[in-house]
Amino acid sequence: MARIIDGKALAATTRARVAEEAAAFTREHGRAPGLEVVLVGEDPASVVYTRNKEKAAAEVGIRGALHRLPASASQRELLEFVARLNADDAVDGILVQLPLPKGLDADAILDAIDPAKDVDGFHPLNAGLLAVGRGGLVPCTPKGCLALLDHDLATEGEPLDLAGKHAVVIGRSNIVGKPMAQLLLARNATVTIAHSRTRDLPALCREADILVAAVGRARMVRGGWLKAGAIVLDVGINRDADGKLCGDVDTTEALSHAAAVTPVPGGVGPMTIAMLLSNTLLAARARLAASAAP
Ligand code: NAD
Repeated sequence: MARIIDGKALAATTRARVAEEAAAFTREHGRAPGLEVVLVGEDPASVVYTRNKEKAAAEVGIRGALHRLPASASQRELLEFVARLNADDAVDGILVQLPLPKGLDADAILDAIDPAKDVDGFHPLNAGLLAVGRGGLVPCTPKGCLALLDHDLATEGEPLDLAGKHAVVIGRSNIVGKPMAQLLLARNATVTIAHSRTRDLPALCREADILVAAVGRARMVRGGWLKAGAIVLDVGINRDADGKLCGDVDTTEALSHAAAVTPVPGGVGPMTIAMLLSNTLLAARARLAASAAP
């Protein structure tokens, strides 16, 4: 029987560490790190996600607000709003919740966010820095996945050695799949990115020492797709036919094939928010360091 990787527990530990560091930042600099979350429209899932982000930030001593704009907001209004946040020196992190309502150009909005405040890590500059292995702000979900891997498999405090391990990432989005692949590659894993046009996905998955599923299809990955002893990170958030929350992996089946599996809920999801808080602190520190530089 596989281990369940407890994302809630690691997220709680991470949030407690961020709270300590945010308090130290506030003492040293006379202001708290600041995160502003922008929600356009009323998408029900986005309303829940952004409220959770606002609440989690307040709990760790990160200052900021959730700004709600109507679905009728124009591209120009949203760009002006982002420009105001860019110009505000007390704002360290800006997050514009996706998806945006139809008619708004998400790429143009993301491009307009100051890369130094881009705590989601979606700006092309940050994506490029990740691709060339030069830091920058890294997208929260893949960063959380890597933290879960490290935590679950660390031996005596040493990070997990991923060198030469075959990692299969299902999904090639800019938000999860591609940055996940970059992070695993940077740790010397042999990475395959699978997607909707991949042939014989089950056979490919059976070669994976590490499998990351970021697809958005309820329980698509079956137990028989897994190599014995694989580590499975399930990013998907779906509703099954009965309306029950589930991931991209059939967790029950996976537990009898793999070595370790993240559950949904309680796996990757909580880590995404914890990494957002961590990124906000990183952005705050980096901005201060940049402003102090000669
Ligand atoms: P997306 O729709 O942008 O990308 C999905 C990817 O899956 C695409 O690259 C597509 O090629 C691939 N795909 C689709 N059908 C496939 C198939 N049959 N076989 C193989 N690949 C297939 O989605 P996304 O934004 O990357 O999110 C993926 C999932 O992760 C969604 O369920 C989303 O809700 C979830 N998600 C969770 C978190 C979290 O915090 N846990 C964060 C972001 C996204």
